[in-house]
Amino acid sequence: MQARGSRQWLAAIPLTGRFYILFGILLLSVAGVLFGALRATSLQSSASADLARVAAVQRSLDRALTLHTAIAAELATAGNHPQNLLSTLRTQLDLTWSMAAAPEVQTITESLRQPASNYFESAETYVNNTAASDWAFADLEPRRAALETALRDAMTRMRAVLFRVETRVLTQADRADSVTAWLIAGAVFASLFAGFALWLVAHSIQSSLRSVGEVAQALAAGDMDNRCDTHGHDEVGGLARMINLLADTMQGMLTRLRSEASRSTFSNQLVEALEMADSENEADKVIARAMGTISEVHPMELLLADSSRAHLERACVHPKTGSPNCSVESPYSCIAVRRGHPQIFSDAEALNACPKLLGRMGGALSAACVPVNFMGRALGVLHVTGAKGKPPNPEQIAQLTALGVHAGNRIGTLRAFERSQLQASTDSLTGLTNRRAAEEVLANLLAVDSAFAVVMADLDSFKRLNDTMGHEAGDRALKLFADTARAVVRDRDHVVRWGGEEFALLLPGVNAERAAEVVGRLRTALAQAHLLTGTPIFTASFGIADSSMARDRETIIRLADEALYRSKQAGRDCSTVGDPALTGTPSVRRERDQGAVVDITQVARGS
Ligand code: GH3
Ligand code: MG
Ligand code: MG
Repeated sequence: MQARGSRQWLAAIPLTGRFYILFGILLLSVAGVLFGALRATSLQSSASADLARVAAVQRSLDRALTLHTAIAAELATAGNHPQNLLSTLRTQLDLTWSMAAAPEVQTITESLRQPASNYFESAETYVNNTAASDWAFADLEPRRAALETALRDAMTRMRAVLFRVETRVLTQADRADSVTAWLIAGAVFASLFAGFALWLVAHSIQSSLRSVGEVAQALAAGDMDNRCDTHGHDEVGGLARMINLLADTMQGMLTRLRSEASRSTFSNQLVEALEMADSENEADKVIARAMGTISEVHPMELLLADSSRAHLERACVHPKTGSPNCSVESPYSCIAVRRGHPQIFSDAEALNACPKLLGRMGGALSAACVPVNFMGRALGVLHVTGAKGKPPNPEQIAQLTALGVHAGNRIGTLRAFERSQLQASTDSLTGLTNRRAAEEVLANLLAVDSAFAVVMADLDSFKRLNDTMGHEAGDRALKLFADTARAVVRDRDHVVRWGGEEFALLLPGVNAERAAEVVGRLRTALAQAHLLTGTPIFTASFGIADSSMARDRETIIRLADEALYRSKQAGRDCSTVGDPALTGTPSVRRERDQGAVVDITQVARGS
C-alpha cells in the first residue's frame, strides 16, 4: 500500500525531476561533509596558530629575561659596560612588541614598556657616565629590579595565557575528532540515503515501465480491453496515455473491421442464398430468413411493387416477430422510396416522423425503412419497427441496407428474366405462345404420355386480304383470330401462333373428334366476331391430329399439317382430321407450298 503510495507520489514527478532531486541530495550531502571538515580544520588551525604565537612571545620574554639577568651581572662587575647586551635586550623587547598577538598578550607585553624604558634610561646613563657610577648604579638598581619583576610577572601571565590556549587547542582537537566521527557517520548516512533514493527512483521507473510493458504485451497478444494505469504525470505516465490512446484507436478499428467482416459474411451468404432462389417466391423465403438473422426482436416486412408499379404488396415478413403492418399503398407514398435512402425514426410521434407510423397497434414505436431498388428503379421497401427510442442499431441498419440492395438485385433480375422468358415464348402481335414454346409444350405432353390433340389452322387467302385491305387490317385479323381462339378453348389449352397467318391449338386430354368440335365452335365464334367487330371477313382452314395417331411430335404435327392442306384442297374454310394412311403424299405438300388463290368473299361459309 505504502509502496504504491510512494510510487504514485514519485510518479507525479517527471523522470528528469527525480534525477535532479537525487543529484541535489548528493550535492547537499557532499557540501555538508566538506563544510564540516573545513570548519573543523579551520578551528583547529586557528587554535594552533594562537598557541604558536603565544609560545613565540613566551620564548621572546624568556630570552629578554635571560639577557636582562646577564646585563645585570655584567653591570655588577666593576668596569664592564655591556653595550652590546643592552642593545640586544632592546632589540629583543622590540621584537616581542612587534609580534602579532592576541589583545590579551599585547596587554601583557605592553606592560613591559614603561619599566623597560626606565631601565634603559638609567642603564645608558650608568654606562656612558663613569664618573657618576655610584649614584647612577644606585638609580639603576631599582629600575633593573622593576624590569625584572615586570618581566617575571609578564612571563607568569603569559604562562597562564599559554595554558588557556593549550587547553583550547586540546579542546579543538577533541572536537575535531568528534566532528570527524560525525562527518564519517554523516557521509555514510548520506551515501545510504542517496543509495535508497536512487533505488526508489530506479524502482519507480522500472515498475512503471514494467506495467506499461505488460499492457503493451497484452495488447500485442490481442487483449484490446487492457489499459495502462495513467495516474502518473511523468514521462512513463505520458507513454501510458499514448499506449492507451493507441489501444483505443486500434480497438475502434478492430470493432469496425469485425463489424465490416460480419456484414461482409452476411452479405456473401445472402448473395449465395439469393442466387439459389430460382423464383420470386423462393427469394422471398430467403429474405424472410435473413430478417431473422438481422434481429430477433424487431417486426419486419418486405413490401414490393406489383407489375404495374402502382401498388405495394407484402412479399414476406419476419419469421418470428411477424409484420409491422405498414399501411403504405404505393411505392411513391413511401418516404424512404421517395428519398432513395434508409430512413430512421426513433420516435414515431415526432413531428417529422413518417405519418404511416401513427396509430399502430402497441402504441409509440420507432422504425427504420430501407428502400429496395433495381437499376435505379424503386421496387419496394424493407420496413422494421421497434420500441420507442430503440430503432435498429447502426449495425442492423447496415445489414438491412445490404439486404435491401441484394434483395432488390435478385428480385429485379428474376423479374427481368421472367419478362424476357415470356417475351421469348410469346408472339408480340397476338400475345400468343410462339412456335418454339409450343414445341416444348408438345414435348412435355409426350413425355408424360398424356393424350392430346393438335389443330393446325391457316387463314384463307390472307395474302389477298393484306393486299386489298392493307397490312394493318391483316394484323387486326390475326389478333381477332387469336382472341377468338383463346376465348373458345379451355384455360389449360394452348393457342399458338405457328408463324405468319398459321396458328395451332394444343388441346391436352382431347382426341381428334373432340378437337373437331372445338374447331367448329371456333369457326362459329369467328363468324360472330366479324359481325361484332367489323373487321374484314376472313375464314380459316384446319387440320386435326391427335396423340393416338403417332408417338412423336414431328409426325403428329405433320399429320395435322397434311390434314390442313387437304382442307385447303377441299376449297378452304373447313376442317379435316388427319389420316396416318395418307401421310407423306407429295401432292399434298406441293399444293400446300404453292398455296391457293381463293376469293375471300366466297369462302365465308361453314364446312
Ligand atoms: P391460302 O389460303 O392458300 O393460305 O392463301 P394465303 O394467301 O393465305 O397464303 P400465302 O402463303 O400465299 O400468304 C400468306 C400471307 O400472310 C402472306 C403474308 O403477307 C401474310 N402475313 C403473314 N404474316 C403476317 C402478319 O403478321 N401480318 C399481316 N398483315 N400479314 C401477314
Ligand atoms: Mg399459310
Ligand atoms: Mg393462308
